[in-house]
Amino acid sequence: MNRPILQVRNLCIDFVLEDRTIEAVKGASFELAAGETLAIVGESGSGKSVTALALTRLLPVPPAEIKEGEILFDGESVMTMDAARLRKLRGGKIAYIFQEPSTSLNPVYPVRSQIGEAIRLHRRDVTDVDAEIVRWLEAVGIVDPAARMHDYPHQLSGGMQQRVMIAMALACQPDVLVADEPTTALDVTIQAQIMELLGSLKERFGMAVILITHNFGIVSGFASRVLVMYRGRIVEQGPTEEILRHPQHAYTRALIECIPQLGSKEKRLETIDHAAIEVA
Ligand code: ADP
Ligand code: MG
Repeated sequence: MNRPILQVRNLCIDFVLEDRTIEAVKGASFELAAGETLAIVGESGSGKSVTALALTRLLPVPPAEIKEGEILFDGESVMTMDAARLRKLRGGKIAYIFQEPSTSLNPVYPVRSQIGEAIRLHRRDVTDVDAEIVRWLEAVGIVDPAARMHDYPHQLSGGMQQRVMIAMALACQPDVLVADEPTTALDVTIQAQIMELLGSLKERFGMAVILITHNFGIVSGFASRVLVMYRGRIVEQGPTEEILRHPQHAYTRALIECIPQLGSKEKRLETIDHAAIEVA
C-alpha cells in the first residue's frame, strides 16, 4: 500500500442545536492511501458528508463541534492548521465535487472565470490560464471547450455542469478528490457516463478518490475499498469485493440487498428494517 495521504482517528462531531445535540459522527477512524479509491457508503443522514467536510474543516462551527479526534493530511494535523495552510488544503490538496453542480457553480459568472479563479488560486505554475482551462474542459469530455468556456452554468445540461465541476476540481491538481454523491441528481444514463469519466480521470491523473454514495451499486468496479457508515459510526470497512461477498454487518447486508438487480424491481432504502440491525 502507498503512504497514507489521509489519516482520521476517532473523529467525533456533534451539532449543538438549541433544543438538542445531534451526534453526527461517532468515533470514525480510517486511512486513505495516495492514489487509492475509497467509497463511503451509507443511507442519508449517516454522517458521510459531515465526515468529508471535516477533512478540510469546512463545517460551520458552531453549530458543529469537533469533540475529539485527529485528522492528518500528509502527516500534518488539519486541526491545528492556520488560515493560510487551510486555504491551500481546500481545493488545492483536497478538492470536492457535490451532488448539485448548480449549488457549487456561481450562476452569474461564465465557466471560464470560475475555473480560472481556481487555477489562479492554486496553480502558481500556470501562465496561460485560458489554455489550462481548455485543457481541463477537454479532459472531462466537453466538446469545443474554447467556445464552451464562455457559457454560463444555466446554458449547460446537468451532466455538462457536473463535468465542469470535475474540471474545476482537477485543474487544481489535488491529491484527493472527494466526490459526494456526484451522480445522485443525474439521469441514470448520465450517471454511468460520469462514473466512467471519474474512473478514467483517476487512472490518468492518479489522485486518490473518496466516493460518497448511498448506492452500493456504483461502488463495485470503482472503489477498491469500502467503508460503511450507519448512524454516525463506521460499522464495517474492507476491500470492496470481500464486503460484497461476505458482509459482516446486518446493515451492510441490507444495503447490498438494495442494489438493483437486472430484471427485478429496485428495493428502496426505506425498506431497511432498522429494528433488526444491532449496532455495537
Ligand atoms: P449524509 O450521510 O447523508 O451525508 P450528513 O453527514 O449530511 O449525512 O449528516 C449527518 C447528521 O448531521 C444528520 O443527522 C444531519 O441532520 C446532521 N447535520 C449535518 N449538517 C448539519 C448542520 N449544518 N446543522 C445541523 N445538523 C447537521
Ligand atoms: Mg451527504
